[in-house]
Amino acid sequence: MKIISINAGSSSLKFSLFNMDNETVIASGLFERIGIEGSNYVIKYNGEKVSEEIELNNHTDAVKILLDKLITLEIISSLDEIDGVGHRLVHGKDKYSKSVIINDEVVNDLEEFKEFAPLHNPANILGIKAFKDVLPEVPMVGVFDTAFHQTMEKEAYLYPVPYKWYSEYGVRKYGFHGTSHRFITQSVREILGRDNFNLISCHIGNGGSITAVKDMKCVDTTMGFTPLAGIMMGTRSGEIDSSLIPYIMEKEGKNASEIIDDLNKNSGLVGLSEYSSDMRDILVKCDEGDEKAIAAKNKYVRRIVDYIAQYYVLLGGADVIVFTAGVGENSIPIRREVCEKLAPLGVKIDLDQNSKRGEVTKISTEDSAIAVYVIPTDEELMIARDTLNLINR
Ligand code: ADP
Repeated sequence: MKIISINAGSSSLKFSLFNMDNETVIASGLFERIGIEGSNYVIKYNGEKVSEEIELNNHTDAVKILLDKLITLEIISSLDEIDGVGHRLVHGKDKYSKSVIINDEVVNDLEEFKEFAPLHNPANILGIKAFKDVLPEVPMVGVFDTAFHQTMEKEAYLYPVPYKWYSEYGVRKYGFHGTSHRFITQSVREILGRDNFNLISCHIGNGGSITAVKDMKCVDTTMGFTPLAGIMMGTRSGEIDSSLIPYIMEKEGKNASEIIDDLNKNSGLVGLSEYSSDMRDILVKCDEGDEKAIAAKNKYVRRIVDYIAQYYVLLGGADVIVFTAGVGENSIPIRREVCEKLAPLGVKIDLDQNSKRGEVTKISTEDSAIAVYVIPTDEELMIARDTLNLINR
């Protein structure tokens, strides 16, 4: 069985083609600048890389060329080999708690929910329509970023604001990165060989969120109504006192959406360091003794530790903490600092094990009260698994 996982952006389309018999990637790649001058693609397969600048007027063009290349590069011999297409979908509001076969209702809902994800839902619809144009007979499955978090209880997802904001306008915590947190949860089940455990899943990339999981279900997560909430990120502030918004509006003569833009794009690591949103750059500056970089890194670590501690209490203790995504999988010093600050919870880090990256690794010592793992996340594979499961039904 071959499945394509798709992540469609407003001017991009990322794909991975899986052989689901052994869950391996046969080919992957990216179409960029769709509808913009300089459009191009890169396809990787068999250790080779093919790239070309080519006119892509819309997502349908990109899908046509993708499928054409899969055949001409002899990655597949016919389109009949593609059994299903899985789409990463961002916002399913409180209607979608699981992945679904995509039909007209799903597309209409994505459209209806677009004010909750104005950049992502319309792009997801473009990806769906493109495959519907080119591969009308192949079943498609939608995998929502928000779905895993739908098991949260009201006291987790409500904000303490006028209730009408929730009941009439849909203001609540939705959470994001759900596909990654679900992949991590299933990986922990495989490692432990059981599905009753308390897990704190730390997806720390350029964007980041931490999720508390009890017996395979999300009980709380740090992102909220939008991805701006929770931990400090590469360019996002995470949690702030919202009263600073009108204060800075007045100081800088900006409107509310300009301030939200600053909180999304010019805050977090890049905001505090005034240098870079990339943790690698920040760590180099820290080594040079740069005070702003050190403050940025310390605040970043502090926020992660604060939420882990909060979720430890919420869960009534933790069996496993997992680090994943760009920083979580790769940044040895950040993992070390977080784990050292968790010593009051009985966490003990194994420094040798922590020096590894890129594979599933237990980085806590045998006598650590909580097992700490690094697990590379794989949202594309999770999407392909869901697609296979649903089309097989
Ligand atoms: P996104 O949220 O865009 O998917 P990723 O999960 O790819 O982000 O994470 C990207 C971030 O990972 C980069 O901004 C960088 O800070 C961090 N990163 C990647 N490799 C390393 C490394 N070796 N050391 C520290 N940070 C790293």
